[in-house]
Amino acid sequence: MEESRRPHLVVLSGAGISAESGIQTFRASDGLWADHPIEAVATPEAWTRDPERVLRFYDARRDQVRRARPNAAHRALAALETPGFRVSIITQNIDDLHERAGSRDVLHLHGEILQARSSVDPRLRYPLRRGGIRLGDVCDKGSQLRPDVVWFGESVPRFGEACDIAATADLLLVVGTSLAVMPAASLLEYVPLDTPCVLVDPEAHALAPPGVVRLDRPAGEGVPALVRHWRREGRLWVPETLFE
Ligand code: NAD
Repeated sequence: MEESRRPHLVVLSGAGISAESGIQTFRASDGLWADHPIEAVATPEAWTRDPERVLRFYDARRDQVRRARPNAAHRALAALETPGFRVSIITQNIDDLHERAGSRDVLHLHGEILQARSSVDPRLRYPLRRGGIRLGDVCDKGSQLRPDVVWFGESVPRFGEACDIAATADLLLVVGTSLAVMPAASLLEYVPLDTPCVLVDPEAHALAPPGVVRLDRPAGEGVPALVRHWRREGRLWVPETLFE
């Protein structure tokens, strides 16, 4: 099928899609922020004040990601990449589980934990195939390496690109996000008018803005059910009665 005619699914995923892979979300009561306040580990000020603590925090996140495996939701999205559908994934996650499931078109809005980057030149990035970042590890310009993640209070350099992708969606699937982090959450405003949007999240009833179809399911159940339905029908639409 011609590239421009294929139904285009755009996915906005958040920490919840990786929860069933064993990676903690941020806001759950047992979530990351319970033990690690944002201001102590995920801001430029924290990095200036106590870089060792910040590096230790991200070392632990990286170890967790390396141990995790993609779950049924990641795999279902990768399996939809058939000649019949175009799938673009915009993720707030810093893990690589979409890629490891086989998705080929993945944009990381908030960076990637398996990369280090220069603290003076964000274009200088280095894959972390094993181990982590130590104080004293430097980039080609001689400055300290830091995790390639976007911290609270920093700009989101790839947001414009994400908006351009959202503007070409035939359906927007939002999965496992509390829609609390800006500008990521505002991506819903960039899809064309009348484009169907669906949120798959156990808390969807409380989180979905008006006009968004709510599927109160864990990602590993809701996403494969939707994908099976789309593949069977050969088109993208959201039956509100999928689980009734
Ligand atoms: P969040 O913690 O604010 O929200 C997580 C959402 O996931 C909640 O709405 C929760 O109801 C939902 N959820 C929990 N279990 C689920 C499941 N099994 N299936 C589907 N949904 C489930 O996370 P957020 O909205 O992504 O925003 C916070 C920030 O956290 C993002 O910037 C992201 O970079 C970062 N983060 C990333 C990872 C990761 O890379 N895996 C992990 C934690 C946090």
